[in-house]
Amino acid sequence: MEQVSSGSSEPVLVLWERILEGLRPHLPSPQAFDTWFRPLRARCLGSDIIELEVPNLFFVDWIQEHYLATLMAAAVQVTGGTPQIRFAVCPDLEPVAVEDPLADALATSLGTAGQSPVSGALRGAAGPFRRQAHLAPTEPRLQPRFTFSTFVVGSSNQLAHATCLAVAENPGFIYNPLFIYGGVGLGKTHLMTAIGHTVLERRSDARVLYVSAERFMNEMIFSIQRGQQLAFRDKYRNVDLLLIDDVQFLAGKDGTQDEFFYTFGALHEAHKQIVLTSDKPPRDIKNLEERLVSRFNQGMVTDIKPPDLETRVAILKRRAAAHGHQLGNDVALMIASRVRANVRHLEGVLVRLTALTELGRTKITRALAEEVLRDYASPEEPSLTPERIAQATAEQFGLPVELLRSKRRTNTIALPRQVAMYLTRRKTGLSLSDIGDWFKRDHTTVMHACGKIEAQRTSDPKLAQALAGILEKLGQVGS
Ligand code: ADP
Ligand code: MG
Repeated sequence: MEQVSSGSSEPVLVLWERILEGLRPHLPSPQAFDTWFRPLRARCLGSDIIELEVPNLFFVDWIQEHYLATLMAAAVQVTGGTPQIRFAVCPDLEPVAVEDPLADALATSLGTAGQSPVSGALRGAAGPFRRQAHLAPTEPRLQPRFTFSTFVVGSSNQLAHATCLAVAENPGFIYNPLFIYGGVGLGKTHLMTAIGHTVLERRSDARVLYVSAERFMNEMIFSIQRGQQLAFRDKYRNVDLLLIDDVQFLAGKDGTQDEFFYTFGALHEAHKQIVLTSDKPPRDIKNLEERLVSRFNQGMVTDIKPPDLETRVAILKRRAAAHGHQLGNDVALMIASRVRANVRHLEGVLVRLTALTELGRTKITRALAEEVLRDYASPEEPSLTPERIAQATAEQFGLPVELLRSKRRTNTIALPRQVAMYLTRRKTGLSLSDIGDWFKRDHTTVMHACGKIEAQRTSDPKLAQALAGILEKLGQVGS
């Protein structure tokens, strides 16, 4: 065990400063550094484990989502190992206020290759700070843009839209719970949030709580650690509208499912509306307790499908117009026909395109759009799946694909498995836990794999070559 902690020869502080120095150049902006890393404190730091103190749960979410690979790469350089990174929330730490968390979010999103550019900006709206002098641990806010009026209705989402409207107009009574499911980036969070806005417009004192299932779990664990379960229950059982996003995350988390079951029961009984989203219907969520599945099926289950071409064009034009840009039919059609499976990717192309035109003060032209599309998406969507990535990885390393999901830990299999996990994280919209499920591993193992490969790929030519070979097999040359 090479763990270094306070008092040993090389102090934690020094090592942490070296890690900070190492990661700073890889962040999208100095603000990103000041915002997300300056306030942190290392509690212990070694080649096995790094434990970081963060001011609030937002930091955990944000760093994991955006900077984990960068942090890991720097940690590998400094410690010489591939440490596990853990976070501990310490409310006494002062977050440093930034002028505009959204600007940081946007910089992050634009600078983060391989990630959906817009999602960062969206989440950023709920950033870690309220713009007030005193920085309380913040609750996620409803993303202001996600209203019914900005949602484009088409055949793929008509039913879901109508159901959400009905719920928003009569919360707690017609469909309770409302369960919305569908693929990544198809507007589930948008519609769910729109219900929240409408309810608040009609009754400004309504208590509306939006939270991801993951955050629900983190808060629950946090409350247990500090003996504040009552406050936790109080918070969740005294709302008029509870919006829980991405409940597939609860799969296999038995303690959280229990707590959620009781929260659910209390709210339902009191005719308080519950809205849930997931990437699949209740019955298909593996390791979800039967009693929750049947609760989720009790109200209304509705799905969103990928939008058709007309809807995609309409979404693009509307978004461009909202930013004061005119998008010609030909350019809109070109983008919409190339990016099909995910509205977030569609918007990602638009964000890059508008950023480029604003920087260069030029107009949006076909040629510019071509250039962005070339960088952004391969002409052949649908996006990659873990199956395809695992298959290509197995071929590259000359292994049977089943081995990648097996229990075997020998080095000949561990490395290809890590490579496949890394590429799955980069090339699909899947979360660490989803990827973990697919490879039959824990999400921390995936996190570790991603950091390790990210760190090694620049210094290890054999690895770089293998990655390029796999990407080529997947038709993703040069990305
Ligand atoms: P999900 O929760 O299903 O992964 P989101 O609700 O976050 O997806 O949507 C991803 C992005 O796509 C958001 O910016 C959202 O506003 C946009 N979007 C999705 N569907 C539509 C639509 N029908 N009209 C307008 N914007 C949409
Ligand atoms: Mg969502």
